[in-house]
This record gives sequence, C-alpha cells and structure tokens, in this order.
Amino acid sequence: MSQRSSKNIKFVDADILVIGGGFGGCGATYESRYWGRDLKIVLVEKANIERSGAVSHGLSAINCYMGMQWGENQPADFVRYARGDLMGLVREDLIFDIARHVDSTVHKFEEWGLPIMKDPKTGRYLREGKWQVMIHGESYKPIIAEAARKSASEVYNRIMVTHLLMDKTRPNRVAGALGFNVRDGQLHVFRAKAVIVAAGGASHVFRPRSVGEGAGKTWYAPWSSASAYGLVLRTGAKMIQMENRIVLARFKDGYGPVGAWSLLLKAQTTNAYGENYEAARLDEIKSLVGKYAETTPLPTCLRNHAMLQEVKAGNGPIYMQTQQVLDTKEKENTGWEDFLDMTVGQAVVWASQNIDPKEKPSELTTSEPYVMGSHATCSGAWASGPEDCAPADYQWGYNRMTTVEGLFGAGDTIGGSAHKFSSGSFTEGRIAGKSAVKYVRELAGNPPQVDEAQLTMLQQEIFKPLENFEIGRNEIVAGSVAPSYISPLQGLQRLEKIMDEYVGGISTFYMTSEPMLNRGLELLTMLKEDLDHIGAEDLHQLQRAWELHHRVWTAEAVLRHTLYRQETRWPGYYYRGDFPKLDDADWHAFTASQYDVKTGEWTMSKLPVHHIIE
Ligand code: FAD
Repeated sequence: MSQRSSKNIKFVDADILVIGGGFGGCGATYESRYWGRDLKIVLVEKANIERSGAVSHGLSAINCYMGMQWGENQPADFVRYARGDLMGLVREDLIFDIARHVDSTVHKFEEWGLPIMKDPKTGRYLREGKWQVMIHGESYKPIIAEAARKSASEVYNRIMVTHLLMDKTRPNRVAGALGFNVRDGQLHVFRAKAVIVAAGGASHVFRPRSVGEGAGKTWYAPWSSASAYGLVLRTGAKMIQMENRIVLARFKDGYGPVGAWSLLLKAQTTNAYGENYEAARLDEIKSLVGKYAETTPLPTCLRNHAMLQEVKAGNGPIYMQTQQVLDTKEKENTGWEDFLDMTVGQAVVWASQNIDPKEKPSELTTSEPYVMGSHATCSGAWASGPEDCAPADYQWGYNRMTTVEGLFGAGDTIGGSAHKFSSGSFTEGRIAGKSAVKYVRELAGNPPQVDEAQLTMLQQEIFKPLENFEIGRNEIVAGSVAPSYISPLQGLQRLEKIMDEYVGGISTFYMTSEPMLNRGLELLTMLKEDLDHIGAEDLHQLQRAWELHHRVWTAEAVLRHTLYRQETRWPGYYYRGDFPKLDDADWHAFTASQYDVKTGEWTMSKLPVHHIIE
C-alpha cells in the first residue's frame, strides 16, 4: 500500500498527547498518570524512548539539585543564580517553581535505581558544584524511560511528528498532532484534548566546527532537530528569547564536558602562557556589561567572551591544566569516568592525540551556537506561570500552557527558565502533566475537532518529498545533483552557512549586525521557498526533510529575535556590532515573536521581566 494512500492512516485518540520522550516528556507522562489515573495518556517519540534525546547516551552529573533536605540551597538562591547567569533576564516564577520541586524528582530517580555518588564523610550526595550532584549515569535515560513506559497508556516509538493539528472551529486551540512512522511510513493522526510538546532543542542550525567526516560530532546531539520550536511556533504560540542561543566552552574536538574538571577537580583554565586571563579581563568586560560583570560566578557568556578575546589576541590555545590536579588515582578515575559516562568520544580524541591528562593540559574551545531552553540559555515558548507566585501578566491559563489553548510544554520547549537541565526538565514535565490533567478535566465534554480538510492537505504535504524524488530523479543525467529538487543534506548545509555567516556563528567570531541579519533573512526566505522542493529517496530522508523544516523555522525565529534586540546582552554568545553594549534602560525585557499562519507575518514585541525574588 502506498504511503500516501488514505487507507494507510492510523488514528489514535488520547486525553493527553505527549510529544517527545526525553526528559521533559518522560516527566510529563509519569505525572499525568499520577493525577489522571483514568485518562488515556499517549507518548509519541521519533526514536525509541529507551535511548532518545539530547543525553540518551548518559550523563555523569545531575545539574539541578537544591539539597533542601540538608539545608544546602533554597529555591530562591537558585533563582538568583539563574538570573545572574542569564544577565538578569529570566522568568523567576517558572524557575522558582522548578527549584521547589526538583529535589523530589531526583529522589525518585534514586528510588528507581539511578546510582547517585555519595560523599563518604557526610553521606550526602557528592557535589560536583553548588547545584550539581555526581551520578554513575550511563543508564540514566533507560531508568527514567521505564517510569514513562509504565505510566503511558500507549507509547509510539519511531514516529516523527511533523505538525500540530488545530481545532476546526476554535483557531487558537490545539487538537492533536500528525506524524509518520520512520520505518514503515504509516501516517499517524493523534487527536488529543491536551498536547504537551517536549521535543527538545537544536543542533545544526548553525554550521558546526566539525565538518566532513566529523560532521556528526557536535556538542548537542545531531538528532536534536528543533522540533520543540518548529512545531510550536507555527501554531501562532508566542515565543520568547529566541536570540538567546548558547555557545559552550568545551574540550576541543570531542566536546567533552568541563564541569567535573573545573568544579570538582578544580583544574585551572589558562591561556597558552599559563595566565589566568579571566581575572585580567574583568575591567574590559565591565565596560561592556556594567554591573553584570560583578556577578558571582561570572556568567557563562562572559567566560566565553574572555576566552574569545584571548584567542583573538593571539594568546591561544586555551588550556585546561588537567595535569595539575590529577595527583591521586581517585581523581584520575573521576576525570575519566566523567567522559565515559557521557562523552566517550573525548576519551577517543585524547587517545588518538597521545594526550594523557596526567601529563599535559588539554585544549578548550568555544562551540558553534545551539538553540535550547534548559541549559545556560532560555529560548522557547511563553508559558503561563504557577498561580501562587506568577505575576498577574504571566498568568492567563494553566501552568506551563502556551498562548495556544490546550498546548503545554516542558524542558527545552519553554522559554525564560534556564538551568533546568535533566532533572529540571523532568520536573517541568511533571508540572505540565499535572496542569494538563486539570485542563482536560475542566474541559469536560468539549473535545477539540480535527479539520478533515486540513488533514488531507497536510498528508499530501508530508509525503511530497518522496514524490519530488520519484519524479525528479529521472532528470538526473549524471551524479546526484537534481535539477528540480534539493536533498535534505543540501538544504541543511545551506541553512548552516546562512546562520553561520550572517547570524553570528563561528566564522564571524559570533558577530552580526542589522545589515548582516537583513541579508541573512533574504537568503533564508529563498531557502524557505526551496523547502517545497526537497527530494527524499526513502523514509529516513523524509525524516531528515522534516527535521530540516523544523530547523529552518527555528532559525528564522532566532534571526528575527536577534534583529529585534538592539543591544549585546550576552557577549560570548553573540555580538551585535551595531549595538556593542548591554543596554538595560531599553532592553531589560524579553523579546517576543508571534507567527501568523494566515498572513505569514511575524509580530515582534517586548514583554516585561518581573523580579519576584530579591
Ligand atoms: P530531550 O531530552 O532532548 O528530549 C526530546 C525528545 O523529543 C527526544 O526523545 C527526541 O527524540 C524527541 N523528538 C524530537 N523531535 C521529535 C519529533 N519531531 N517527533 C517526535 N519526537 C521528537 N543535564 C544535566 O542534568 N547534566 C548534564 O551533565 C547535562 N549535560 C548535557 C550535555 C549536553 C550535550 C546537552 C545537550 C544537554 C545536557 N544536559 C545535562 C541537559 C539535558 O540533557 C536537557 O536539559 C534535557 O534533555 C532537556 O529535556 P527535553 O525533554 O526538553 O529534551
């Protein structure tokens, strides 16, 4: 049966549909079941939840844990930390909400079998840093996936969700989602009363440092393809802080994490001459960002900035002085396990380059930019906040509901709340799940209706790349370049080049400006036209085609927000050459965008930043 046949459709009805079975999605599924014992909860995932998502390979630390049982930190402390790191601009209500619940999530993880390291002296969890606890985390993902699997009524693995469906009569209400099975091509139509999007952030929007054979080696997983934003923003949901892309300082070429080395083992980062350049550059940083340079710890972007300035001055390579701290076998084991739990590739880089961290230092560099909402960055959807602590203008519906009715989010999907990490994303999923149950119950007897006409149109659109290939390949006379279609990879490389060269990627040292952004937008608009002409030779390439769509939509949002914010708020993440300084008087605000599906227009605006914690 043809993949495009109307008979090859599976309809699935759900009370709550969770899209994406990573940290946010597993949390949402688990908690929805807790509050909605009688509800039908469906989880849909493009890979297999057992090993899917940004950190499917495992982790060596849980980066968000208060330790309230031992009086280590309080939620308000965490809000201050995240606010400082993001140069003042965060949704304090959302972060507070996560911080007050996150410890219970981590305790559940331990109960479910995750080994958390203990400090032999105190018996408490072993701290990597103030907010991080160390784990033996190779199997972190399967452990949390089991909780979701046992909670869901049905789990659909290998379904790439391409679109959200809207209600037939109420245009601002979600009605479900559409996707296809990446193995057999069957179209899946999910009809749901509430939808929770937890489809993760994005790599490969900007050109990566690793190219050619190494192209798959990025810090953020290559399969994280911006669906959280690509799905949500096309419904007309309000998005915020999409300009706030993140750049990471990591071990060079393997993107190995630096947290355990710097925070736990206390290895120093220096320039090539062994100098501590960060302290030396503080005055210069102050001249750009004022009081924010006095934040402790120094915000992530500013640490990047110091490193970049050092490299530009010819004082690179930048080194982590690992050899200075590995004075015991125990420390050496900790250093290696850190990689083996979450970035085996870095150990391979060291082996291939004859680097023994006990003997010599290792190079660090800054990555290409990524788009996400749960790390030291907070791009994502504008969400209604918790009723007990969100200011009035941050509340219009149920906690974690976007501006679209019935559409919730968690993890990378939700903007304004940085530093959630794995445990916070799961926690936010739990919060969204609980709210979605409440929403479904209160909706009583008024379920959404899927528009048949919309369905037929989208069905054709989804499979069109297969048809483009089937027809267009006959025009090829030699090689693989087709006159009438582009491949998903060609489209991706074009996108990465545009974003890199015009929107502040590595090739311009993260520099951009209004003229560059406007030129980038012209080229991006042409790329969008060509998206109708992608050719996919099989279902795998069809998935790549839709991942590209999601990345391109996300890229446009990133570009438009970058253009709108006329200041350089996060030097080290990106720079506006025409507005080189931070400008609190005009820009102590969130940037917001809203895409109008009918007109194809974007509306940009500012939203207020309220400080609820002193
Ligand atoms: P994910 O966990 O990425 O889940 C998204 C899910 O959606 C995936 O399963 C994906 O396959 C699925 N999906 C995507 N698109 C679709 C689609 N179209 N249709 C269906 N399914 C789809 N946190 C820590 O606590 N400690 C750390 O040390 C740490 N290190 C990190 C290192 C890296 C490189 C990265 C990227 C993140 C790290 N984090 C860490 C943060 C943590 O991984 C994220 O905060 C968390 O995974 C975000 O959860 P999420 O649910 O939003 O996204």
